[in-house]
Amino acid sequence: MVVKNTADAIVIGSGIGGLSCAALLARYGFEVLTCESHTISGGAAHSFQRNGFTFDSGPSLYSGLSYSPSSNPLRFVLDAVGEDIDWATYDTWGCCLPEGDFPAPIGADAFAEILAQLRGKEAVSQWRKLQQVMKPLGEATLALPSAALRYDLGAIFTLGRYFPAMLPHLGASLQLTGDFAGILEGAVSDRFLLNWLDLLCFLLSGLPAKGTSAAEMAFMFAEWYRPEVVLDYPMGGSGAIVDALVRGIQRYGGELRLGTRVAEILTDGDRATGVRLQNGEVIKARRGVISNISIWDTLKLLDKRAISTTFRQERDRTPPCPSFMHLHLGIDGTGLPEDLHCHYIFVEDWEKGVKAPQNVIAISIPSLLDPSLAPPGKHAIHVYTPATEPYELWEGMDRRSTAYQEQKEARSRICWKALERVIPDIRDRCELTLIGTPLTHERFLNIHRGTYGPEIPVTEGVFPSATTPLPGLLLCGASTFPGIGVPAVAASGIAAANTLAPVHKHLQLLN
Ligand SMILES: Cc1cc2nc3c(=O)[nH]c(=O)nc-3n(C[C@H](O)[C@H](O)[C@H](O)COP(=O)(O)OP(=O)(O)OC[C@H]3O[C@@H](n4cnc5c(N)ncnc54)[C@H](O)[C@@H]3O)c2cc1C
Repeated sequence: MVVKNTADAIVIGSGIGGLSCAALLARYGFEVLTCESHTISGGAAHSFQRNGFTFDSGPSLYSGLSYSPSSNPLRFVLDAVGEDIDWATYDTWGCCLPEGDFPAPIGADAFAEILAQLRGKEAVSQWRKLQQVMKPLGEATLALPSAALRYDLGAIFTLGRYFPAMLPHLGASLQLTGDFAGILEGAVSDRFLLNWLDLLCFLLSGLPAKGTSAAEMAFMFAEWYRPEVVLDYPMGGSGAIVDALVRGIQRYGGELRLGTRVAEILTDGDRATGVRLQNGEVIKARRGVISNISIWDTLKLLDKRAISTTFRQERDRTPPCPSFMHLHLGIDGTGLPEDLHCHYIFVEDWEKGVKAPQNVIAISIPSLLDPSLAPPGKHAIHVYTPATEPYELWEGMDRRSTAYQEQKEARSRICWKALERVIPDIRDRCELTLIGTPLTHERFLNIHRGTYGPEIPVTEGVFPSATTPLPGLLLCGASTFPGIGVPAVAASGIAAANTLAPVHKHLQLLN
């Protein structure tokens, strides 16, 4: 194989944002090279295998992917490069809440039934009212497809073509600029409903309703509360999505290099011109370098003189969300309850708030939907604290020390406790137990302080765009607009690719 030392575009990192960007760039006809430091691609969304079990390292909650066209930007990328995978669909999660344990079917009517049982008529009527408030907001978010976004004057044509469709929604659009808490004021006062909505916001953005973008929630409501809605799970695990994106990149001539860490973003004069790899190799980019890694990690790759001090200081100061505790378990499935769900959410105490450490736990048992993820008769389980584990507790610890081992046991206890609500004899069933800490997360995901991404309440600002003061350097991924989460990072990758593409090709793709 000939190793190239020049490409039109170099993408740093193969998270979903980077792969989406690379796939579209390749589709637009650019010669694109993606450099990934890990030996597995996908970043937070990679799958890994141990002893015959396939585990998702991160995301497992997906929607709007099993059908097309859909409003999910990741679906747009898969369609653009002619890729798809098999999807399992389901419509119910399990809840383990202070109110009790119950299945929660998704869909507005199904949730109204739960509310009727738990809280009575008044809560149901508030829920119905909220659906009415959210309907026009959801329609407004859908009127402008994220795939039309680009960060140059070409946006006049690509976004402009949707202006007539947007006109009836202009009033609603104004409400989308605030936070979801603002929308809830006056519509919802039921304590449980407020707690539940805080939880949904938190799972989406890492923040409660106060601080979570109303637009993000309007998009979610439009997706989750439409009739006959289902959630999707990729057959083969999250790695199957990653593989599909990589196939799409390669189909259009793009290249992905694994185990290839970028050590520096090179500049010439006032332009980003390529990258230097950790092994010293230099690769030049004719059109641009797109960084898919977090903003803090991107800044580390830039020489002090390469980018304005104001930009560096401002972006470096962005507060990171906390990190994660993970359990990845391979278990014996003999005699498990028949009615287990693929996903559970556990909340210990609403009073502590959804952001409190050791309070909210997410559980995923994807082998219930795709038995190929575990050996026959076994199951693969991922349990985690969703972006609530303080990195500070782990900072500087020696991973071989007894103190580290003891802290691992102590801080993962809440994960076991949550899982015991679902599978009481879980500890006896475990054949494989992997406990991950913020240090594991930082190391395997190569991300600053093992963070989920920037913590930017919409009331304090929006996620920054893909552009930087350094011509030739663009950004995508969870540090970039619209923010954290698989659909969001795919949208950011699309926008970065569009910004490099000629307007006529962008318009063609939108068609
Ligand atoms: C536990 C967990 C559960 C989640 N659950 C969900 C969910 O259910 N649904 C959902 O929508 N979202 C979920 N998310 C969020 C979502 O997974 C992430 O926001 C998204 O995948 C981040 O993608 P990204 O494009 O920002 O890149 P990242 O995933 O951050 O990937 C960046 C890549 O860059 C590589 N890299 C870093 N430095 C270098 C370098 N110097 N040179 C080369 N490569 C480098 C890294 O190895 C990594 O592969 C979850 C996240 C986590 C952690």
